[in-house]
Amino acid sequence: MSRIIYLDNAATTKTAPEVVQAMLPYFTENYGNPSSIYSLGTESKKAISQVRETIAGTLGAANNEIYFTAGGSEADNWALKAVAEAYASKGKHIITSKIEHHAVLHTCEYLEKNGCEITYVNVDENGIVKLDELEKAIRPDTILISIMYANNEIGTIQPIKEIGEIARKHNVLFHTDAVQAYGQLPINVDECSIDMLSASGHKLNGPKGIGFLYIRKGIKIRSFIHGGQQERGRRAGTENVPGIVGLGAAVERAFSMMEEKTVKERELQDYLIGRIEAEIPYCRLNGDREKRLPNNVNFSFRFVEGESLLIMLDMKGICASSGSACTSGSLDPSHVLLAIGLPHEIAHGSLRMSLNEENTKEELDFTVEAIKEIVTKLRDMSPLYEDFVKKK
Ligand SMILES: *Cc1c(COP(=O)(O)O)cnc(C)c1O
Repeated sequence: MSRIIYLDNAATTKTAPEVVQAMLPYFTENYGNPSSIYSLGTESKKAISQVRETIAGTLGAANNEIYFTAGGSEADNWALKAVAEAYASKGKHIITSKIEHHAVLHTCEYLEKNGCEITYVNVDENGIVKLDELEKAIRPDTILISIMYANNEIGTIQPIKEIGEIARKHNVLFHTDAVQAYGQLPINVDECSIDMLSASGHKLNGPKGIGFLYIRKGIKIRSFIHGGQQERGRRAGTENVPGIVGLGAAVERAFSMMEEKTVKERELQDYLIGRIEAEIPYCRLNGDREKRLPNNVNFSFRFVEGESLLIMLDMKGICASSGSACTSGSLDPSHVLLAIGLPHEIAHGSLRMSLNEENTKEELDFTVEAIKEIVTKLRDMSPLYEDFVKKK
């Protein structure tokens, strides 16, 4: 294969070269255990506290409110399970949305089996959480609202400030899965009344297997992993020092280039959406046109099977996704696309392309031509399409 056109940055991103460079010494000469007393250990300890400070600074948080985890899924699991446990005497009711990542939804299902009650609020046709429904769902025994900052499939950005205000007004904790938003959008935990926030390194050009959970000071949360005193006794285990250093470098990079990255991605996004809408009939842009991550493009093509489209794009070197990486391989249509009201057959024909600032118009031109060719080919093989054309 001559080249790869990578349009799957919501699944994972390329680790930036400067991130790899920053990590390398922590595999080689600076291998000390941060808990050790001698100076080799304190080097590692210093590196960790610097990253903690960097991350806290990006959120308007305090250093000791940042807890490193092994990624976004762990942070989501921790937030939900630990609140359910620590606040059980207040109640067992949690509110979330129908379009959360599986790290939240499957944790909720687990908690339901263990005596919690979960309300899954609806979203509108663009994937925005219905605020009136959210507020009405709050009960005296509600302990937590968990709503994602931005959706990984359709890119929709939620009204986080308003959700935070509702949670605050009713004295309910507010967790947000910001894995897709962190590093792409400015976030301030105080302005948005966020009590807990999950993020992940590999979604912002950092390494895989490292992330963090922000936990506002004063929130009762028990240890997630028992053992040593790491992470102030709340998450035991020798720290992933190279991972944390890499995360720090990725965060610095992402926040220093956020504006120019956004401008570039928006331009590419508009271009790609514009060409597809103009040149491919019977397609639908999924997600909100305005309140959308700058790099997300998600289309449904009628009379097309998303998996076939993906395989044929792969043969041309184009990496994209239909639904989320975790669900491809399963034949169920995406829960997010069903939640915004798409019928099964249209949800099945969906394609997510998530860009980065290094993509070029030329790559997008090649991609549009490929989609046009493949969609035409697949429709020509579809009896449903044949019927549809005959009826017209
Ligand atoms: C990728 C992702 C996660 C999971 O993060 P990992 O670091 O891969 O465990 C959680 N939530 C959202 C919205 C994601 O996009």
